[in-house]
Amino acid sequence: MPTELTKAIVTGYTDYRDEDRMLTLFSAQRGRIDCKARNCRKPTSKLLSCAQPFVFGEFELFISSDRVTVNACDVRETFYPLREDADRFMTASVCTQLVNSVIEREAPDEALFSLLYHVLSFLAYTDSDPQDLLIAFLLHYLDHAGYRPSLTRCAVCRRDVRGDDVLFYSAEAGGAVCAGCPHGGKPVSKLALEAMRRILMLEHEELKRVVLKPELRAELLPILRASCKRALGENDKGAALLEQFA
Ligand SMILES: [Zn+2]
Repeated sequence: MPTELTKAIVTGYTDYRDEDRMLTLFSAQRGRIDCKARNCRKPTSKLLSCAQPFVFGEFELFISSDRVTVNACDVRETFYPLREDADRFMTASVCTQLVNSVIEREAPDEALFSLLYHVLSFLAYTDSDPQDLLIAFLLHYLDHAGYRPSLTRCAVCRRDVRGDDVLFYSAEAGGAVCAGCPHGGKPVSKLALEAMRRILMLEHEELKRVVLKPELRAELLPILRASCKRALGENDKGAALLEQFA
């Protein structure tokens, strides 16, 4: 029988029938995998512990011509503390939904996998503020998706704006815009632009070091929300969840 082992994170699920679940898995090597986990909601099911959001494990998949089914899973990490804190759970849900918006079947993506894995770990096992981790995730996610905001140059005229005192941020233009260029953006502080530059310089394993003041969080979240909406489109589920939550 064609079975395959793959390490993956559960990034989404939909219940069907009484005891079954459709899982969305994100594998660094295979990209998105939509698969059935039969009877996984039975209390005695061997799949009970793996058919949960955020679980990382080695999945044994049965692959037939028209569907993929989970046979078994060696659970490596449940990120259990996420289930005990509503803010951390919601932040993790936003991150996994945003990942689901961009992953595709048979499209390996080690960098995005590493970003998600690290942010889930820090949300579960560190005292880092979940909003700081969300901001760090969003910046690296946008960068990865090809929407890195312009932070040192005006997104319209490309002039170096690091010496400018008055600047704006426009998601439509793609980042910071100088006072001389037309834009539909809002004023942005130099501190916010500098914070974004520094966060983008960090490796994924360093993102737990991001510590922002409340006023900076309040400035950055709407900016990044607008940029995600711009990148993914109005009707995207991940962008909508981000809008509701943050
Ligand atoms: Zn300009």
